[in-house]
Amino acid sequence: MPVEVYIALGSNLECPPLQITRAIRALAKLPSTRIVKQAPWYRSLAIGPGPQANYINTVVAITTTLTPLRLLKALQSIEQQQKRKHRVRWGPRTIDLDILLYGRKTLNREARNRNALIIPHPRLQQRNFVLYPLADIAPHLVLPDQTPLQQLLANCCPEGIVRLEAGETRGCTG
Ligand code: ADP
Ligand code: MG
Repeated sequence: MPVEVYIALGSNLECPPLQITRAIRALAKLPSTRIVKQAPWYRSLAIGPGPQANYINTVVAITTTLTPLRLLKALQSIEQQQKRKHRVRWGPRTIDLDILLYGRKTLNREARNRNALIIPHPRLQQRNFVLYPLADIAPHLVLPDQTPLQQLLANCCPEGIVRLEAGETRGCTG
């Protein structure tokens, strides 16, 4: 049975609107996967080391029969196709694809390599650039631990983030 999965997308390098568009197209082409909802795009201030360009962030909902680990591998291969270099943690990136939620599943797959997988995404609760677009497409969502998304939103700050109008996301000014 297909599972509903929420994926966060973020980019702050090499024309972020283009990177996001490409990644969504690549997601749509994954085997046994359909995109069912797309959130508006947001511009957000970078967190992490040193001065960095603003990010474009959004969230999409897919349905898929890929297992969580296969999906992670598929996301990593899309990141690689878009030439993401793994140099600095939280450093600038052409594209970052994170699994936020996988149905109501929780997973704590500890690993030192790129097979580590934690669901729900461990930093989901603190990141307004994830919570806002997620709430746009799933306002009534309840996390596997029963926390309503609206409660996380109420505890989260609106600073450093702007929702973009559809026309604003066309060019490469992100
Ligand atoms: P960020 O935390 O900013 O997304 P990275 O994308 O560089 O940082 O982190 C990638 C690492 O996070 C990978 O090694 C991957 O195995 C691990 N990871 C753990 N949980 C998840 C998840 N839910 N979605 C995506 N990557 C995850
Ligand atoms: Mg990531």
